[in-house]
Amino acid sequence: MSRTEEILEKRLGGGRVSPEDALHLAQEADLFALGRAANALRRKHVPSDTVTYLVDRNINYTNVCITDCKFCNFYRPVGDAEAYVLPKDVLAKKISETVEAGGTRILLQGGHNPALRLPWYEDLLRWIRSSFPSIEIDAFSPSEISHLATLEGMTVLDVLKRLKAAGLEGLPGGGAEILDDEVRREIAPKKLDTAGWLDVMRQAQALGLVTSASMVTGCGETASHRVNHLMRIRELQDEALASHGNGFPSFIPWTMQVETTAMGKIFETRRLLPASAQDYLTNLALCRVVLDNIPHLASSWPTQGEKVAQAALAFGADDFGSTMLEENVVSAAGTTRVKMDADEIRHHIRTAGWVPAQRDSRYAILS
Ligand code: SF4
Repeated sequence: MSRTEEILEKRLGGGRVSPEDALHLAQEADLFALGRAANALRRKHVPSDTVTYLVDRNINYTNVCITDCKFCNFYRPVGDAEAYVLPKDVLAKKISETVEAGGTRILLQGGHNPALRLPWYEDLLRWIRSSFPSIEIDAFSPSEISHLATLEGMTVLDVLKRLKAAGLEGLPGGGAEILDDEVRREIAPKKLDTAGWLDVMRQAQALGLVTSASMVTGCGETASHRVNHLMRIRELQDEALASHGNGFPSFIPWTMQVETTAMGKIFETRRLLPASAQDYLTNLALCRVVLDNIPHLASSWPTQGEKVAQAALAFGADDFGSTMLEENVVSAAGTTRVKMDADEIRHHIRTAGWVPAQRDSRYAILS
């Protein structure tokens, strides 16, 4: 029996993959061997043929940012002619359209805008909560929370408590990219570090907020960096489940779109290639095999297109992500697709051989 077979057999028998074994799988395992194991493990977490999706809208409330991530084409510096902060009437139209489309959540994310202070965010949340009571508000990824805490001279915990009191229900898992400081220093040197990202999520979970975790591959990272990322997420999940039970319901790996960003130049100089579909599916299956304590794994049609996202359902994913009636960040870097409505998502799930079901952000089935 090969080492890969031994590791996968142990995992399928209920064992845990060690960091050394995870590295072996990341470097050596065949896509289909990993995929078969990932699909069997998906069946253990989610035994039915159901593949879920969420109807929501990603609203980017400001594009002003002082963090200059090398992979980001979305942001504009302070004072730029194209800089914006969305006014309430524009936000109201976007949220109303989301409600009319059967949406249950809005995802509010923006740049690190030094002109927006904590009371502005509290007012925004209170206004959305009172104007659109049926909509869940997941907002501000860990780097935005950390930026706001620094700006206000407050602790992350106090910022989260204030935002929660104003109506915040969850934090998106963005900004994780690769949770290894060697990579973070390279691609986003001004963004919060690995410990900072994990700490914001740790505190959000302890406060009862919904969170998710993500991973962005194809940014020049090594197999060791990927394994480090997965181990850090798994450790935090162990900690959350043991201390209060409110861990990550889901994990979402996707691939970086480098072509049109400053990262594209770095790739050219180093003769690196963007992540292929095969690499994406291999990593997705690896995530399912290693993350034994996170129940749901999402595919990524915005970065992979609908066909690879359908294939991902046979490689460990049990969720098709969300409609994203609007998306501006990944699309600014030149992604495959930026919009998909619920009917189209249901069609892609059905034609891949699964049964579609709309969910909320805690994975409760809605219809
Ligand atoms: S990814 Fe986010 S934090 Fe980085 S530059 Fe873009 S908007 Fe700013």
